[in-house]
Amino acid sequence: MTNTNLKLYEINSLVTKVLVKYGCNMENASAVADVIESAEAAGCHSHGLMRLPGYVATLKSGKVNGKACPTVENLAPAVIKVNGHNGFAPYALQQGRSHLIKSTRKCGIGVMSLVGIHHFAALWTEVEPIANEGLVAFACTSYKPAVIPAGGTKALYGTNPIAFGWPRKSHPPMVFDQASSVMARGEVMLAAREEHALPDGVGVDVDGKPTNDPNEVLKGALLAFGGHKGSSIAMMVELLAGGLIGESFSFEAAVRDNADGGPPQGGELMIAIDPNLLGDADNWSDHSEKLFEKITEQEGARLPSDRRHKNRIESLKSGVMVANILLDKIRVL
Ligand code: NDP
Repeated sequence: MTNTNLKLYEINSLVTKVLVKYGCNMENASAVADVIESAEAAGCHSHGLMRLPGYVATLKSGKVNGKACPTVENLAPAVIKVNGHNGFAPYALQQGRSHLIKSTRKCGIGVMSLVGIHHFAALWTEVEPIANEGLVAFACTSYKPAVIPAGGTKALYGTNPIAFGWPRKSHPPMVFDQASSVMARGEVMLAAREEHALPDGVGVDVDGKPTNDPNEVLKGALLAFGGHKGSSIAMMVELLAGGLIGESFSFEAAVRDNADGGPPQGGELMIAIDPNLLGDADNWSDHSEKLFEKITEQEGARLPSDRRHKNRIESLKSGVMVANILLDKIRVL
């Protein structure tokens, strides 16, 4: 497969230009461009430029309002509600973030629900800015049915990622961000594009038979990671990002969705905690560094997010390689 080297600013301006052409205003276009640029910079290609045709599909079909103007309400001192009014998630998150940070600093904990959004991004891009402010952060969102509940036969849960960010004084935050399926659907799409077989145990075909063919898994369903344990986490995400905040479950989002190839309308929940108010203000950071040292002193062990932080430094210097097959698709747009 041949690639082209692009600088990060070129990726950002390409995405902005395409989204504006298909009906986004600058606020929405640049919020999405920033998360796509961050994903490419960090080597998370499954949520980078590869998603642009999907974003465009939702604008073309009229499912997403590219000029949506999110509204932010304080329902209680520590409870914030953002209504995305049918826009993309990144601009809604941008609008709510400072309110969540302010409430968390005041109350020790803050909760932000996001409704009426279309989510197509990697969640670490959302918890990292909050952890950069010295706060612990959690986020989760649902999708469309793609994962079979443990013991069942049909996709019901979304791939339902959860992300957790931990602030560090002398290092970038520790963040982990993972789908509750064995593999994110975006990774399966990448394997299909690159014609790689999947490892065993990722998913099943339309008849429920195990398969290593990514194209068959895309038509069939994924399995939850860790059997019944991941299945319960996927269910928890449905409840937190749907039932709790008055948004749809993945199966309800799918009924409403027009299957244009982009994300359905759904919800997200974020929680932030101020470690200075909850714990030992003078010591929590040094104390948690001791845990991180114990992890990394083991040969072969690393902290989640180390890979991304390294990639980011490299791509700032050298740009990123983008598959020509994808660039050709984007050029057509
Ligand atoms: P991965 O399995 O690739 O990685 C999950 C986490 O584990 C990452 O934080 C990763 O850190 C960390 N990790 C990986 N290997 C190691 C290791 N050896 N030691 C320690 N930590 C490690 O992610 P998924 O495929 O599950 O998800 C990919 C992306 O898809 C996520 O960003 C998620 O938000 C997104 N997604 C979005 C959805 C949506 O609806 N918007 C739906 C589902 C997924 P590192 O990055 O440093 O490798």
